Amino acid sequence: MDKVNILGVNIDKTTHDGAVDKVMSMLNEPGNHAVFTPNSEIILMAYHDTEFCALLNSADLLTADGIGVVYASRILKNPVPERVAGFDVACGVIDRIAETGHRLYLFGGKPGVAEKAKENLTSKYPFLNVVGTHNGYFKPDEVDGIVENINASGADLLFVCLGAPAQEKWICANRDRLCCHVMMGIGGSLDVFAGTAERAPEFWCKWGLEWLYRLIKEPWRFKRMLALPKFGFTVLFKGKRYRKEQK
Ligand code: UDP
Repeated sequence: MDKVNILGVNIDKTTHDGAVDKVMSMLNEPGNHAVFTPNSEIILMAYHDTEFCALLNSADLLTADGIGVVYASRILKNPVPERVAGFDVACGVIDRIAETGHRLYLFGGKPGVAEKAKENLTSKYPFLNVVGTHNGYFKPDEVDGIVENINASGADLLFVCLGAPAQEKWICANRDRLCCHVMMGIGGSLDVFAGTAERAPEFWCKWGLEWLYRLIKEPWRFKRMLALPKFGFTVLFKGKRYRKEQK
């Protein structure tokens, strides 16, 4: 797949449908695959942390999650076709595996969130095969047990929702001993499936204003959101260097 290098992170130039197709083919291939969906904040983290940047680039699919990443690709004159949010890819994949029998495991969120997400998803898709859940608040010595539980469930697909960079680090640290075919790091998605957080309505997403909607609803995220203008400036002033390196 064609890529664009944004501050060192190699984002796949895919559409939403292309990303869902890719996850579906990875699900039916042997071996395990990591899917990350970096937004501006995550790419900025990677820009300041070369180890994290390499870890992101080790993924099998990296989608442009957020309007900031889409604009960055345009500034770099190598545009991605559209915004491909992790939550939307997860929804697209769930829709496709709703009746195929593929086994899904939900990992992350506060206690009770993954269970509630399972309940809501299976009431919408009665034949969806959710084989296990685990909350995302655990001690380091519990990790082995969580990995065993995921493997024992026979999961093909694992949603890891611990927030960034924890989820990407967790996936990379454990991928060699996990038997799932696909592991997706998708932030607060379980909260949305559970109904404990709300996704911005269509209008805000369509106009690239999801960040503003989130800021209005969750003003305490203000500090984290400063990453967006910082990301913009960094792409404007440093991005070209990566563009040249790509040539
Ligand atoms: N979370 C977790 N374990 C932790 C810290 C966070 O499971 O130790 C969960 C948290 O409950 C939330 C998600 O990780 O469901 C992070 O959500 P956030 O909205 O910050 O992520 P984003 O979608 O912005 O990447």
